[in-house]
Amino acid sequence: MARGSLIVFEGLDGCGKSTQLDLVFDWMQARGLDCVKTREPTAGAWGQRIREMARSGEPVAREDELAWFMEDRREHVRDMIEPALERGTFVLCDRYWLSSVAYQGARGLDAAEIQRANEAEFPDPDLAIIFEISPEEGMARVKARGGVGEPVFEEVDFQRRVQKVFDSLDRPWIVRVDARGSIDEIHERVLSVLTERVVRPE
Ligand code: ADP
Ligand code: MG
Repeated sequence: MARGSLIVFEGLDGCGKSTQLDLVFDWMQARGLDCVKTREPTAGAWGQRIREMARSGEPVAREDELAWFMEDRREHVRDMIEPALERGTFVLCDRYWLSSVAYQGARGLDAAEIQRANEAEFPDPDLAIIFEISPEEGMARVKARGGVGEPVFEEVDFQRRVQKVFDSLDRPWIVRVDARGSIDEIHERVLSVLTERVVRPE
């Protein structure tokens, strides 16, 4: 059986990752394609710890934060992503290690070193879509979304630094999509990337 494809959704908070991932999932299911959706941080023990840290605003050393993300990803790849890829499934993942590079890089760690460590240990995505939006517009969407924000990750200055790192990432499997416009317009952009890059017509 052919190996599946890992498709990751990346970009600033509020850029529309989760919205677009759900639409791709529904689109694939309607076509009878075997697909799963997942996200980082995960619902596992490490992921819960990261979410709790982000919610409470508790100060955590950036090295520890990075280490928790790596532990979470280690379990995620071993227990979920790799088995699904081996079954030939499309794996749709809401954030992956590009976010570790961008966010922990924005906290002042060496972005290139984080990327090196992740590339050494974890599979490359077959496709990473980075949704491009200004920090202001992303934050406005997050505010409109309501609910509990993640104070550690959501200030505009910080988002600007995150964006710089996302902008600097350069791999052949990265595609940047303009995240401005209506949800439907962006979905159309995503589908044209998918059909060009990973979803072969039956
Ligand atoms: P992310 O997962 O990247 O943080 P979401 O998909 O949760 O972003 O989108 C953030 C908020 O903005 C949600 O309330 C969502 O409904 C809304 N949203 C998503 N895409 C658009 C869009 N193209 N235009 C306006 N609002 C959007
Ligand atoms: Mg989301």
